[in-house]
Amino acid sequence: MVPKGKIDEIIEGYDLKDLTIATLCSHSSLQIFHGARKMGFKTLGLTISHSTKYYDAFPLAKPDKIIKYADFDEMEERVGELLDENVILIPHGSFVEYMGSRRFGDYPVPSYGNRAVLDWESDRDRQRQWITSAGVPMPRLITDAREISEPVMVKYNGAKGGNGYFIARDYPDFKMAIDPSQPYTMQEYCLGTRYYMHFFYDPHKKDGYLCEQGGSLEMLSIDRRDESNIDEMYKLGSIEESKRHGLYPSFVVTGNAPVVIRESLLPKAFDMAEKVVNKSYELFGGMWGPFCLETVVNDKLQFKVFEISTRIVAGTNPFISGSPYADLIYPGLSTGGRLAMGIRDAAAGGYLKDVVS
Ligand code: AMP
Repeated sequence: MVPKGKIDEIIEGYDLKDLTIATLCSHSSLQIFHGARKMGFKTLGLTISHSTKYYDAFPLAKPDKIIKYADFDEMEERVGELLDENVILIPHGSFVEYMGSRRFGDYPVPSYGNRAVLDWESDRDRQRQWITSAGVPMPRLITDAREISEPVMVKYNGAKGGNGYFIARDYPDFKMAIDPSQPYTMQEYCLGTRYYMHFFYDPHKKDGYLCEQGGSLEMLSIDRRDESNIDEMYKLGSIEESKRHGLYPSFVVTGNAPVVIRESLLPKAFDMAEKVVNKSYELFGGMWGPFCLETVVNDKLQFKVFEISTRIVAGTNPFISGSPYADLIYPGLSTGGRLAMGIRDAAAGGYLKDVVS
């Protein structure tokens, strides 16, 4: 991981009145650029092979400049150009996934948030250790497939965005679908409604919903993912019947829809997020900025967190002009805008080094 001292040195050489916000052209980049422009920053899109013509259709979210690289090697070689532009990177799920979390961790350009979180998020065992030791419930793990006695979710270790996951109801079901050459984990299938809750922790804001370290925890929005083809499978009747015709359920994210949760669930939601933030300071020096708790709520109104994303998630995209929650804090502000606000305030307040790594 790039030493913090090196990032601090780079920040010391930056012109803080002329910062540029940059990210990879994908995922939540429209929102990140739109929010950055709103806060008065210059914007820079980084792209490998993605088409960037779609930005022409959205002028308020089009980056001021785009750099096209042949591959991530070239992005590493040309790092000096980003430093010349006083760039602060915004990591998002696709940026870290496409580049690889290790490589992203080593990339010597200041990045918003704590890079140490990468090691805890990218490893499923460590992620579980973090969340459960914080006192937040997760789906139960099943270690021996012969003991499957209720539906389980099988997740291959490298799989992202639900690609390659499958549900097994018993051992024969498992045997039929498993690719034994790939490492996997199994967890109880949690039946209930899914809520992907988008929080923002600001250690320098001293009012609002305060956590142990004295910073402020905000809820900015909630989405539910559209997942293909599981979400539409019911139209074909029973899943078992469909399997006989070679149609298997899959969990590939294709879009996001805005939702709110019943108000009486909010205290539980905040309690879980607060515990996870508090624990992050104990384990690895803290998680600040945007993060998402991916949850299922059952009919007894109990939450289980099946995953945490420790940066801006694409589920915040429906909220470019605010949300029912953000509007009660910062009317009309997106998570992208909130990120830019955090950087603007840190630069103006002389503590930019504290929010980047
Ligand atoms: P993930 O990669 O962990 O975000 O999971 C992808 C999708 O699989 C989620 O959005 C859920 O729809 C589903 N999922 C993951 N874990 C579980 C679980 N334990 N029970 C039910 N559904 C799950």
